[in-house]
Amino acid sequence: MRCLVAGAGGFIGGYLVKRLLDQGHQVLSVDIKPKTDWWQFYSKANNTKANSWAHCDLRLRQEAFDACKGVDRVFNLAADMGGIGFIESNKADCMQSVLINTHLLQGTKEEATSNARYFYASSACVYHANRQISHQQKETNGFIVSWRQDVALKESDAYYNGGAMPEDGYGWEKLFSERMCRHFHEDYGVNTRVARFHNIYGPHGSWTGGREKAPAAICRKIAEAKRDDTGIIDVWGNGTITRSFCWINDCIDGLMYLMESDHREPINIGSSESVTVNQLIDCIEVAADYKVIRKYNTTKPQGVNGRNSDNAICKQVLGWEPATSLLDGISKTYPWIEEQVNAHS
Ligand code: NAD
Repeated sequence: MRCLVAGAGGFIGGYLVKRLLDQGHQVLSVDIKPKTDWWQFYSKANNTKANSWAHCDLRLRQEAFDACKGVDRVFNLAADMGGIGFIESNKADCMQSVLINTHLLQGTKEEATSNARYFYASSACVYHANRQISHQQKETNGFIVSWRQDVALKESDAYYNGGAMPEDGYGWEKLFSERMCRHFHEDYGVNTRVARFHNIYGPHGSWTGGREKAPAAICRKIAEAKRDDTGIIDVWGNGTITRSFCWINDCIDGLMYLMESDHREPINIGSSESVTVNQLIDCIEVAADYKVIRKYNTTKPQGVNGRNSDNAICKQVLGWEPATSLLDGISKTYPWIEEQVNAHS
């Protein structure tokens, strides 16, 4: 099959290009970044349109239409995004990724083959804020009782009491784009698939510069503390918020299964192993074989209190769920980040 990977120079896109090439597909790799900045670059993929498939801005209608010409599969992994620090301070930039999805959907409708399928990478950031409050309090027999709730988000939790309250900026763009996929299917017959990724991690992605997510940021901080033997790192928040983290190869497996399934509703692709930030740090200390003192900084953004992936629909529809433990995945991620830290010192 002829596959377009939009955002091929990015973290998830790079792994997807490799998987598709390994399976013998023809791949067109497109990204706005210069080739030198791609996390993985495969010369076997067709990266040249007069040498300009890099530097290709998919927010522009013509660029998106050209990329979609004659393809059987469109994988939209292109977005202006990053970790919580980035998305909280770049809301307008994040929202303009709506143009990428709009033009790729239109391009698929107009230019792709008649049996084409379209994949959109959504996010756990679409979930309603009120479904993600992990510290609950309730009065029982005159006493205030508080407890920690593990918030496993079901796909239906994006909407609550008839409304939506996703992460401002980035999450709104994702939720809107999800619905655009739905309506391009209903009104125009575009064969769409939507996955909500939950914190994907692994080597060959952002680890410094402000766009990195928590696992990469903490790996970097521990690698720096180890290199400089300071024994101390700063941690955003107080270490008690919960998340689940999904190993990159599991994410690619799920994405491939979904694309070939008949499931058109948004679906979670995430691990259901819920951990606190402190437990994430424990794992990274094991991988680094180095213990640190944690200096908590509660003035930094940390996102919602608790979020986990409910995988009931994933298991039912795809007959599968991510299986790699956090410790296993981090043990493969940390050495790559340590290598980057030492190489850039
Ligand atoms: P990434 O930032 O590594 O990759 C995105 C790529 O898109 C980048 O290489 C970027 O240059 C490219 N891009 C941005 N604007 C573009 C444009 N106008 N034209 C062409 N290319 C453009 O991000 P990622 O982690 O690989 O994420 C891929 C997708 O999955 C994104 O849509 C992201 O929102 C979504 N997602 C990722 C995670 C995660 O944990 N990594 C979680 C939820 C959702």
